[in-house]
Amino acid sequence: MQLTASPKFGFLIDMDGVLYRGTELIPGADRFIRELCKRDIPFRFLTNNSQRTRRDVVARLARLGLEVEDRHVFTSAMATARFLAQQKPGGTAYVIGEGGLLTALHQHGYAVVDHAPDYVVVGEGRTFNLELVEAAVRMILGGAKLIATNMDPNCPTQNGLRPGCGAMVAMLETATGVKAFSVGKPSPVMMRAARKDLWLPTDETCMIGDTMETDILGGAQLGFHTVLVLSGGTKAEDLPRYAYRPDVVVPSIAELADMMDVCDWCPPWRTTPAKAAPSSMVFSSTTFEDLPVAAMSTKQ
Ligand SMILES: [Mg+2]
Repeated sequence: MQLTASPKFGFLIDMDGVLYRGTELIPGADRFIRELCKRDIPFRFLTNNSQRTRRDVVARLARLGLEVEDRHVFTSAMATARFLAQQKPGGTAYVIGEGGLLTALHQHGYAVVDHAPDYVVVGEGRTFNLELVEAAVRMILGGAKLIATNMDPNCPTQNGLRPGCGAMVAMLETATGVKAFSVGKPSPVMMRAARKDLWLPTDETCMIGDTMETDILGGAQLGFHTVLVLSGGTKAEDLPRYAYRPDVVVPSIAELADMMDVCDWCPPWRTTPAKAAPSSMVFSSTTFEDLPVAAMSTKQ
């Protein structure tokens, strides 16, 4: 029997530092996404930010010139709500977070309460204050389980950094002595759920991201192909400190589009580096072989 359908592959794409920085689109991001849409290559935007609903994210991307649909967005809020609905259907949650998280929990049959919840759930937001923390501490000590949408310590902004969800969760962990369960990247809970949303097997899924500790670590743990872009928080000179590595390193998503052009948008891992790599691309196999082994094993 002859197989005629071309094999599918697809991308999970981090947003901040890959598609945009602050309010500025990263050059080439719009072309990359247009090509994926034109060629019917499946993709999801994978963000740890639980603040916005997928509709909010789509509207924000449209302002930047990226035209996508709700189904293309997968947030840590969605992953958290799905996870809790599996763990305890119809449960209750006290939420420190905003619309994206509240909406996702409601959509998955959760009631948001302020007394004796099953879970205390923490996400991104600007409404964080000590009153909320004090209430959450009492609930956790009373038996509520502590869930974090993600443990990112900080998030980049136009003005530098703002404290991330992980920083707020650390306050609750310290006050209660209870460790949070985190659902967002690099947790396999979110990475696997996003891959299943693409309807693709592990070895046909590629994670594109700018952060080693979340995007690349999560991708590597799940067995996805990984592409690190240097347009966000990671510099090429940082890479030797990590015990794991991306498959491919590119200056930005624009160079990944150039690489995909060379092989007519076939999966990059099915082409040889010599054929696929423009001069601006760094393949980790050649990058890391030249590095001292001891220097690569210091950071997990
Ligand atoms: Mg990022």
